[in-house]
Amino acid sequence: AKTSITVLGLGLMGTALATAFLKAGHPTTVWNRTPSKTAPLTAQGATPAATPAEAITANPLVLVCLTTYDDVTELLHPHTTALAGRTLVNVTNGTPVQARKAAAWAEEHGIAYVDGGIMAVPQMIATPAAYVLYSGAQEAYETYRPALAALGGTRWTGTDPGLASLYDLSLLTGMYGMAMGVAQSFALIRSEGIGAREFAPLLTDWLNAMPNVLVPGTAEAVDSGHHLTDVSTLAVNQAAFPNLLTTFTDQGVRPELFAPMLQLLDRAIAEGHAQDGLSRLVELLRVPRPDG
Ligand code: NDP
Repeated sequence: AKTSITVLGLGLMGTALATAFLKAGHPTTVWNRTPSKTAPLTAQGATPAATPAEAITANPLVLVCLTTYDDVTELLHPHTTALAGRTLVNVTNGTPVQARKAAAWAEEHGIAYVDGGIMAVPQMIATPAAYVLYSGAQEAYETYRPALAALGGTRWTGTDPGLASLYDLSLLTGMYGMAMGVAQSFALIRSEGIGAREFAPLLTDWLNAMPNVLVPGTAEAVDSGHHLTDVSTLAVNQAAFPNLLTTFTDQGVRPELFAPMLQLLDRAIAEGHAQDGLSRLVELLRVPRPDG
């Protein structure tokens, strides 16, 4: 028999998750603070619960997807007795510290806690492009992995409950860095009235080519500690980067997203890394721990 699942929180993402469970044949109980959001799911065969307690006690596996961890705390802390002995999978976006705190609370109350990081938008759920990162209670994860696979790929990151969030946020960091670059790039090209649609294919091709060199090259340098480069030195980057900032200003485009990069390049040179590649910046971004 297919695992029965409870989904708490039916926003854009929670609705996509519950829909995927239903489509995969899992009996699914749903609850949402605003009750009207259950209607499209009950039409697909989900069982609506009148209260969070009713939803939690319906099934051994409870998945929660709210806006923030504070919302999860507010919703679930009154229901520790109902949750005891069940598995709680929390796919709400949060920080490693928040995930560890939630796991400690769960352990105190006999709840198996699995933290999840969804690497997809709602429209991608249950497609081959989607996956979810998991960490925390490994036995519970392995028990329910076949059911969780209805959402997309499943990637285990470790028993430290903060790891799914750490991986998630590290990937999002790469994405936001690219999003900032894309925003700045369009702002600059449009400063001369060139159409964004006209420029888009060039930008796409350029950005597609970069990661295949940049990501593995940086990884190799960081793990080996060998930052000397035959691609482009920090010295040449320091010399070229002001051309970007100057042109932003000349063209009436705000430089604030990019200005900190020059400060970092300047520091790298000042600290004697002129002949290293950009991978050196990874080391310079780390704050030394106070205990050495
Ligand atoms: P929505 O704003 O669409 O939905 C938020 C949900 O949280 C609603 O069901 C809302 O209930 C519920 N909620 C908020 N506060 C409370 C509370 N105090 N008590 C009970 N329920 C509450 O957001 P999404 O579905 O898009 O996102 C949900 C989570 O998934 C977020 O953490 C988000 O970062 C993460 N995520 C989203 C992605 C996306 O592309 N959308 C991608 C990856 C992760 P109500 O309907 O009553 O307001």
